[in-house]
Amino acid sequence: MTDLTSLTLAEARDGLKAKAFTSLELTDAHLAAVEQARALNAFVLETPDEARMMARAADIKIGKGEGGPLSGLPLGIKDLFATKGVRTTACSKILGNFVPPYESTVTSQLWRDGAVMLGKLNNDEFAMGSSNETSALGSVVNPWRREGANTKLVPGGSSGGSAAAVAAGLCVGATGTDTGGSIRQPAAFTGIVGIKPTYGRCSRWGIVAFASSLDQAGPFARTVRDTAILMRSMAGYDPKDSTSANQPVPDFEAAVGQSVKGMKIGIPREYRLDGMSAEIEKLWGRGAEWLKAAGAELVEVSLPHTRYALPAYYIVAPAEASSNLARYDGVRYGLREPGRNIIEMYENTRAAGFGAEVRRRVMIGTYVLSAGYYDAYYLRAQKVRTLIKKDFEDCFATGVHAILTPATPSAAFGIGEKADPIEMYLNDIFTVPVNMAGLPGIAVPAGKDGQGLPLGLQLIGRPFEESTLFSLGEVIEQAAGRFTPTRWW
Ligand code: GLN
Repeated sequence: MTDLTSLTLAEARDGLKAKAFTSLELTDAHLAAVEQARALNAFVLETPDEARMMARAADIKIGKGEGGPLSGLPLGIKDLFATKGVRTTACSKILGNFVPPYESTVTSQLWRDGAVMLGKLNNDEFAMGSSNETSALGSVVNPWRREGANTKLVPGGSSGGSAAAVAAGLCVGATGTDTGGSIRQPAAFTGIVGIKPTYGRCSRWGIVAFASSLDQAGPFARTVRDTAILMRSMAGYDPKDSTSANQPVPDFEAAVGQSVKGMKIGIPREYRLDGMSAEIEKLWGRGAEWLKAAGAELVEVSLPHTRYALPAYYIVAPAEASSNLARYDGVRYGLREPGRNIIEMYENTRAAGFGAEVRRRVMIGTYVLSAGYYDAYYLRAQKVRTLIKKDFEDCFATGVHAILTPATPSAAFGIGEKADPIEMYLNDIFTVPVNMAGLPGIAVPAGKDGQGLPLGLQLIGRPFEESTLFSLGEVIEQAAGRFTPTRWW
């Protein structure tokens, strides 16, 4: 039998349907891979018993011809999604050993469609970070290494565990969340595909909140088709999330392989940064050529407020985070550090439970929301956000179907290499505007840098037109090929 962990999600699905192997065999192969890859620290909790139980149930259903769209497929779940009866920590000490009594809407839809849970995946604490180094459960190691070196590299963040697990073949797909780039940046750093859907496409209910007006769930997988399959199950209207969009969920997989002939692709002038690496510039140009060869028309476009997106994000996101994180008080969840009175107990719990990056965000957020500073910072950032959104609207109004940009300004960097928070924040320079505007964005691997590390391109779409991104993304994938790290772990 071929190595079951090398199959794509679509291949595994088709193999299960054709009864070439069982879900239990597929699941066991992945559980063994997870066990052998503990050096990557991608999983913060392995759930082999649940996995086998779910696999057996899937096999029975498949046997009766009653399988769902994801029947028997083993997935990893970012530790930000509440999973009923299974520890959920957002990789923060403050949640301790919190076991939710409820299931997030997105994961419940995956189980409804027959998927199997292998365990919970590592992430930056409360999804704040770009390297997975802020996790209270330790850094994740990227399965990729620079040619001829064994320096440990970050997988990107905040969904670093999800990206590393998918790239290393530990699961056929994984969930992630993206507030400023946390799906697209780690996908680019590990040579896989990740999509942040339109804001409101996937329910936020049961996902640990970071910045509620920006947070959005989405899938990771090794091919464009696989992310399209997962997204159909993850998406959908949910009355339990007041920002959930009541929009029909198309068969996203049907968009894969559709012609892109005549589509107008915008190349935004403002994304050509001063000092941009020649490799990224070349990758971007090559991506544009591939789309052109497939029949798309390339046009230069302008998104004039782009350079204000990152500073405005670092006001809006911490403001919302400081409010969302007020609930961790030592009373309701996880950790409690005693004090002489209740105020001291709150203070002790929050000081002991939150890591340095989370404390920084809470302090920035509280500051920009306080009387006297609110107008100067928060209100102004909201106005800037409106302008950023309008830039995209104006661009799409000229008939542009999608916008092509690099996914990240560099390839994966070494663990511990970026100590300065601003330097870390700059990783999201190309991804943050998309969250500010609530638009869908996909990252697709497109090439390698001079040291053999994967690099990705980003396609940004009109609201609720993810299908266009899947069609265009597949053109890039076909031209660039797939990217698989050499196993060293
Ligand atoms: N890296 C960004 C941040 O730290 C985005 C994180 C995310 O998308 N969750 O805020």
